[in-house]
Amino acid sequence: MKQIALYGKGGIGKSTTSANLSAALADTGCDVMQIGCDPKHDSTRMLMHGEWIPTVLDLVREKGDRIGVDEVVFEGYGGIRCVEAGGPDPGIGCAGRGIIATFQLLQKLDALYGDVIVYDVLGDVVCGGFAMPMREGYAQEIYLVTSGEFMSLYAANNICKAIARLSKRSKAKCALGGVICNAKNIPGEEELVREFADMVGSRLIAYIPRDGVVQVAEVNQQTVIEFAPDSAQAAVYRHLAETIQTNTETSIPTPLEMHELEALARKHIPV
Ligand code: SF4
Repeated sequence: MKQIALYGKGGIGKSTTSANLSAALADTGCDVMQIGCDPKHDSTRMLMHGEWIPTVLDLVREKGDRIGVDEVVFEGYGGIRCVEAGGPDPGIGCAGRGIIATFQLLQKLDALYGDVIVYDVLGDVVCGGFAMPMREGYAQEIYLVTSGEFMSLYAANNICKAIARLSKRSKAKCALGGVICNAKNIPGEEELVREFADMVGSRLIAYIPRDGVVQVAEVNQQTVIEFAPDSAQAAVYRHLAETIQTNTETSIPTPLEMHELEALARKHIPV
């Protein structure tokens, strides 16, 4: 079983990338599970045709641990098993708790199985809570989703720091599988993200161009894979799925110092 996690800054398109990746994997006959670890709990929505599924944290709050597998695992496009960890009410509690509660519950219910589990994790802050999937040995191959915007590279670099630190722990088995550029159409963006990937000791495994079909598919509450399977964008996601499925190359990243990151951005972004 491959346990992969997509980490990246909020709003970078992690959920769209994760859902399309899962859909493309499912189309190849893979048994896929997708777990959204973002308090926004919209990771699996397009796989569920727009349905907001109940979150594990909400159910735990409501019912304690008397929860059945059918209450938290929902079948979406292509038979993908969808779970949303959820999050606390704003201003109270810890978002990481939802992730911990989710994994403990899924493990108790023997629900963590399949060919691939895709963890979709927020990475603005790599606090103990959001690093949980890596720390506890669930997420083994990490993929960084970033654009060429400075703040998203900054978040990606912080995730590299977490991977490097956690890789020294016995329980954690995480390593970096590659970097995915989810483009914002900034000039020179692909080169910038490619160089960033090289500098941290990894590689750019996919360049996802910005394409209007993504929004059109989302308005229709579907992934691009389902809504426009013959589009160029669907082919990009299929290629990403194939690359990840067959990837055996991982590395422990060497995060950049702040001045190196700034120099890299200055080199590529015209001022
Ligand atoms: S572990 Fe993270 S999510 Fe939890 S309280 Fe601390 S900063 Fe917030």
